[in-house]
Amino acid sequence: MTLPFSDMIPVEEARDRILSFFHRLEPVRVPVLDSLGQVLAADVIAPFDIPPLDNTAMDGYAVRAADTTGATEADPRELAVIADLAAGYVLDTPVGPGEAVRIMTGAPMPPGADSVVPFEETDETLREVGEAPTKGDRVRVFKAANPAANIRFRGEDVKAGQVVIAAGRVVRPSEVGVLASLGITEVVVYRRPVVAILSTGDEITEPGQPLLPGRIYDANAYSLAAMVKKFGGEPMLLGIAHDTVEDLTAKLRQGFAADMIVTSAGVSRGDFDVVKDVLAREGAIDFWTVRMRPGKPLAFGAFNAGDGRRVPHLGLPGNPVSSMVSFELFGRAAIFTMLGRHDWERPMVRAITRDRVRNPDPRRFYARCIVTKGEDGAWYANLTGPQGSGILTSMSAANALAVIPEDTTLAEPNTEIDVLMLDWDHAP
Ligand code: AMP
Ligand code: MG
Repeated sequence: MTLPFSDMIPVEEARDRILSFFHRLEPVRVPVLDSLGQVLAADVIAPFDIPPLDNTAMDGYAVRAADTTGATEADPRELAVIADLAAGYVLDTPVGPGEAVRIMTGAPMPPGADSVVPFEETDETLREVGEAPTKGDRVRVFKAANPAANIRFRGEDVKAGQVVIAAGRVVRPSEVGVLASLGITEVVVYRRPVVAILSTGDEITEPGQPLLPGRIYDANAYSLAAMVKKFGGEPMLLGIAHDTVEDLTAKLRQGFAADMIVTSAGVSRGDFDVVKDVLAREGAIDFWTVRMRPGKPLAFGAFNAGDGRRVPHLGLPGNPVSSMVSFELFGRAAIFTMLGRHDWERPMVRAITRDRVRNPDPRRFYARCIVTKGEDGAWYANLTGPQGSGILTSMSAANALAVIPEDTTLAEPNTEIDVLMLDWDHAP
């Protein structure tokens, strides 16, 4: 029996129903580098000023600006070099009138000096390598220095006690850098979800094992585990379950410790009897027909983990492209929700299709395509080839999914279509 299209549920409705089962997980303390992509659960307060001391932004000479007034190349000012100061060292000796300290970027300003003259504005650059002025030498300054020039002032970046990164922010490489610059080694973030992944089907074989006639290797567990990692979760591979009640039940139960269980295959009509029985016995399950292609059949429910916990279950179709596209649309949002992130939506851009895209029935068609920028600055989309839901290499060739609406039967070449950018993290 085929369901009338009007009885299929739209993608958005399926996603809303799924997301109603998910919530942000609890906060945990983790090493800073491990928190990449997670959401801060508490404000980060600066324990001290950054920079902690006034320091030089240039390699040059720390001087008293007044000593250089009127200096030109024709009429330089000559100063006595009293010290050579590298970054990491503090000089307590004050710079007196007519004196200078040769100073390296990042070194704290010595007392008395109020400006830094870069090497380029002195005779240092005229000298041979290895002949730079040192303590006891004299240096000639060719340009008048402005007070405060080339100095990075204490606290100009961050003030002690200030909220440097607010709770709710996603940790990116720049946040990792800011945290490290404050000497912070651990942060409190919402926990990463553990996502258990189970492949089903008598024909499925673990990669690395010999492939018997009629069998295929398990692509889904691996593409899904990779997506889980990419989206910020921790995959837990449960292996492959045969199409028997005993095996399926045993393997599923191993996933009850996870925050979510993802299975692939066995949800299409005619095939799901075993799966359906097991799922229904272990919890509650709904079989949906989602108005999309690929990925029409979808099961969603929750297992009773025994300890009062209910573990949400996403049952994906077996075809490798269908399972990936479904997990992109539903699994990503679920993982982000558990991470406390709201930015799961991929950026959608308008692109000009170079191919004719046919949408044979009133479902939303997600067509694998390659989107590139044309000379004219516009985005162009080319289909990656045959769109069969078993053709995984055409998913690998794609960087986007063209979204052909339910009510559109045809997109003609050189017309605009929406494309979902799969390699772009999220909309700004
Ligand atoms: P099913 O949903 O069980 O009808 O499976 C649909 C198609 O996907 C069949 O051709 C299966 O052999 C294939 N398939 C199911 N599971 C996997 C898997 N883990 N890796 C690769 N292909 C699969
Ligand atoms: Mg099957």
